[in-house]
Amino acid sequence: MEIFKELKIRGHEQLAFFNDPFSGLKGIVAIHNTTLGPALGGCRMWNYKSEEAAIIDVLRLSKGMTYKASIAGLNLGGGKAVIIGDARKDKTEKLFRSFGRFVEGLGGRYITAEDVGTNIHDMENVKIETNYVTGIAKSLGGSGDPSPVTAFGVYSGIKAAVKEKMNKTSLSGLRVSVQGLGHVGTHLVDYLSKDGVEIFVTDIDKEKVDYIVKKYDCQYVDPDQIIKQPVDIYAPCALGATINKDTVSLLDCKIVAGAANNVLSNALKDSKALIKRDILYAPDYVINAGGLINVANELEGYNKDKAFNNAEKIYDTLMGIFKRAKKDSISNHEAAALQAEDRIKKISPLKSFYLPYKKTFKIRND
Ligand code: NAD
Repeated sequence: MEIFKELKIRGHEQLAFFNDPFSGLKGIVAIHNTTLGPALGGCRMWNYKSEEAAIIDVLRLSKGMTYKASIAGLNLGGGKAVIIGDARKDKTEKLFRSFGRFVEGLGGRYITAEDVGTNIHDMENVKIETNYVTGIAKSLGGSGDPSPVTAFGVYSGIKAAVKEKMNKTSLSGLRVSVQGLGHVGTHLVDYLSKDGVEIFVTDIDKEKVDYIVKKYDCQYVDPDQIIKQPVDIYAPCALGATINKDTVSLLDCKIVAGAANNVLSNALKDSKALIKRDILYAPDYVINAGGLINVANELEGYNKDKAFNNAEKIYDTLMGIFKRAKKDSISNHEAAALQAEDRIKKISPLKSFYLPYKKTFKIRND
């Protein structure tokens, strides 16, 4: 693979490879764009089939973070890290401390967090070596699990989608299907139930289903059938790519709005197919930005009310996207991307003049 060609095509600033034979660390950090601020994005640990697969993944994910941070109005850029390894077998304290030292070496250009294959405990080990880490446990002064804020953002986004598509300001009496009763799905069901929504739920984990169905007044649907469930809103909160060329025709809803990342298998094609079916799509990285909003808030000293208030703004952000999409006859997916790029372009000239800054250069001995 031609790495510089890949960086050019995707618009990346930097790709950093970390190798530490002592800890076994093979890590890669991709920094896509830092116009708005330091690049923030989780650290994924995955047994990639090849180094090339790891590079493509970190490039793809870091670019996505630039757009997510920009559209959420955060002063952050887009970055991501991957550690090549088996998260079930290869995790050690030294591995994550080693990763933390490399992150420290980037001098704040990249801030890490947990992601698929890593958790709060791993980030505690990272934090021993660097302060450029967020999403830390409450007991260590962090913000803890971001899922409640993510769910609140999704709930606010569903309200925006309902206003746009159905011209309703209340969710009462509407039917919503929630696919996946994990961290986000569970909180989402809680918000929806308080609004008098008729809720249909599914999960491959029967225990989670039993707990939710018992606690809330909702109906179970088989995981294979949820996509066909007649509802007003389908809220995917499990896996990505549940909407693809084979499933678009199966949907029986007016709106797709959920927490899952990469809901559309092929964002351009599937968003157009949804328009053809007259189904409104709330772009995933806009509606699920609550988690990022939460960890970004932690960087300034965590304030729970502020995190929830910012997540509520997802309503206005989505309304702006819907308006632009209609005005320019483009999909909501395209309108969101343009809006994210616009903000970066507008802020970029601000960085054109020199600012003196104090820097003390000190050789570390630790
Ligand atoms: P989670 O792992 O806690 O929950 C996912 C749930 O989906 C699990 O209960 C799992 O059993 C279920 N599931 C898996 N496959 C399924 C299937 N085929 N059918 C039905 N259920 C299935 O994850 P989460 O933290 O709740 O996140 C949910 C989604 O939202 C993920 O795509 C995640 O990337 C995205 N997201 C989460 C956050 C956050 O703050 N947690 C933020 C942004 C985006």
